[in-house]
Amino acid sequence: MREPRSSMTPDSPQQARLIDGRATAARVRAEVARQVAVLAARHGVTPGLAVVLVGDDPASEVYVRNKGKQTREAGMRSFETRLPASTSQHELLAHVARLNADKAVHGILVQLPLPRQIDELAIIDALAPEKDVDGFSIINTGLLAARGSGMIPCTPLGCLLLLKEYVGDLGGQRALVVGRSNLVGKPMIQLLLREHCTVTVAHSRTRDLAEECRRADILIAAIGKPGFIKGDWIRPGATVIDVGINRISEPSSEGSRDRLVGDVDFDAAVRVAGAITPVPGGVGPMTIACLLKNTVTAACAQNRIDPGSLSG
Ligand code: NDP
Repeated sequence: MREPRSSMTPDSPQQARLIDGRATAARVRAEVARQVAVLAARHGVTPGLAVVLVGDDPASEVYVRNKGKQTREAGMRSFETRLPASTSQHELLAHVARLNADKAVHGILVQLPLPRQIDELAIIDALAPEKDVDGFSIINTGLLAARGSGMIPCTPLGCLLLLKEYVGDLGGQRALVVGRSNLVGKPMIQLLLREHCTVTVAHSRTRDLAEECRRADILIAAIGKPGFIKGDWIRPGATVIDVGINRISEPSSEGSRDRLVGDVDFDAAVRVAGAITPVPGGVGPMTIACLLKNTVTAACAQNRIDPGSLSG
């Protein structure tokens, strides 16, 4: 557990501790690489992750490239499939069925969003649950909600690892999750409940979001609106996890330049919070690190290997 607040001089503005997602993600990846080496040496198993990209969305293209690179760097096998934007649902389902049956593939990730002619839920639910490393299928969603188990979605898992590192025991903390998407907000709620937090969830119909925020010891923002959570909404000393990734255009000497910002007004929040994730460099790097971690978990389960036996 880390000290929640950095030291301050009497005349310096209060500054939250920065939650360094890049450093934590690097440690998660190093541990994954170590486990992959043990799996190969002791069990002759090399975890394999298949990533499927349909269409040519530039942001998805970048994510898929990064996932492939980090998968290989961890010593795992990376299988990448690029299908045209015109791919039909039937064709994608057939591809998923092939990957489900392939013993070298332990984890499958179909990059979202998918083109409009394809029903995303039908694809997600066609993934073999034990290979669904994104944890979005109905089986894994149900396992998390009902039993606190199953494959845990990567971004909420990354947020939880950061919280455990920087806050420690979460039991009894008041946590507010702003956003109720299936990908981030809902699994985050389940994970915080599992850690014995008192959890509140806010969304676009919440009546007084500022007041809800002011009660929270832990504030998770997953909205998709740049700087939406204001500094004076944050409880002094709270831990703020900003999941949002928003590209904004700012005036610059060359005319304008693009910058990534979160859902929290960082410059104001950093003066009030006890600890806060920056954007970029906070939750983002944890997502891919947790994907690799889930792939190792999946490879162990499919080969009946106790993941605990891989520890150093
Ligand atoms: P969604 O658009 O699926 O969900 C947004 C949520 O925010 C909804 O529940 C919505 O409420 C809520 N919301 C919207 N407006 C308000 C408002 N005014 N007040 C309160 N709540 C509001 O987004 P995602 O969950 O997929 O993503 C959220 C953000 O996280 C995005 O910026 C995304 O880019 C980022 N992200 C980052 C990842 C990472 O690796 N760091 C991974 C995944 C996402 P309602 O349900 O009522 O509509």
